[in-house]
Amino acid sequence: MSQDPVETVVFDGLALANSLRGALAEEIHALAKDGHRPPCLVVVLVGDDPASRSYIKGKQRTCTRIGMDSAEHLLPESTSQDELLDLIRRLNEDDGVDGILVQLPLPAHIDPAVVAEAVDPAKDADALHPITSGRLLAGTWDLASCTPLGILACLDHHRIALEGAHAVVVGRSQIVGKPIALLLQQRNATVTMCHSRTRDLPAVCRQADVLVVAAGRPRMVGADWIKPGAAVIDVGVTEVEGKLVGDVDFDAVRGVAGLITPSRRGIGPMTITMLLRNTLRAYRTRKGL
Ligand code: NAP
Repeated sequence: MSQDPVETVVFDGLALANSLRGALAEEIHALAKDGHRPPCLVVVLVGDDPASRSYIKGKQRTCTRIGMDSAEHLLPESTSQDELLDLIRRLNEDDGVDGILVQLPLPAHIDPAVVAEAVDPAKDADALHPITSGRLLAGTWDLASCTPLGILACLDHHRIALEGAHAVVVGRSQIVGKPIALLLQQRNATVTMCHSRTRDLPAVCRQADVLVVAAGRPRMVGADWIKPGAAVIDVGVTEVEGKLVGDVDFDAVRGVAGLITPSRRGIGPMTITMLLRNTLRAYRTRKGL
């Protein structure tokens, strides 16, 4: 049986990110007019992974554009865990620092869970501290993981109905899969979480009104995994032969999905925007503004 192609809306992550950044810039400007200093985000990088360096440059450029202060600490690969924890302690105590992000991945001799717990939850811009995730679980959150917040903003922008919808999340990471599942559930979606041991993954995905894929498996999701008209959020980014490729076969799924996010200018710019949003929220809460 042939099916009429669906007119697929392609999400423009850069346009929405720019509009949300404009709103953040206005908020910071209004604070300055009332005599308050700008919020400040500090990024810590251990080692010189070129991709991480390029990410943090992008983050700093975006901070400058919206009038947010930023600083970076570039530490050598040989930095010990204690040295890193000592820096985090100093940043926690510095009243001029509002958001702290320790760029992942960290070198193998540093435990990311220990680092996540060292960051003051009041400055937890990347939302990795167990207290921050606990608040998300309790539904009393103010800061939440950046990529899931970006996904929600994308779905809201396109007025995707979440109440009662079946949302399928592929991937159960701490930074994407688990928090987006909780956020979707809080918005009254019925959520199914999938992972590498899920049986008949294509059949589960085909039931989704909203499908979020964060597996890091290039072009794993084909057209026959998609319910016609579904909203498909592709979080995956993997470098394949020098090109960044998503988890969804974009060309195949276009014409079946109702909404799709591209791997470039899709969820990526939204993630950075939500990092700035978290820093501003952390600043306002700490300063009672
Ligand atoms: P991750 O820690 O790399 O874990 C991958 C998850 O996917 C795991 O839960 C794994 O299942 C599941 N998985 C792997 N292969 C699978 C398969 N064949 N079928 C079903 N599930 C499978 O996850 P992550 O850190 O969330 O990253 C996922 C992808 O998103 C990566 O490509 C990453 O680069 C990208 N990402 C993009 C952004 C952005 O801003 N655009 C932000 C964050 C991440 P198990 O738990 O069973 O192993």
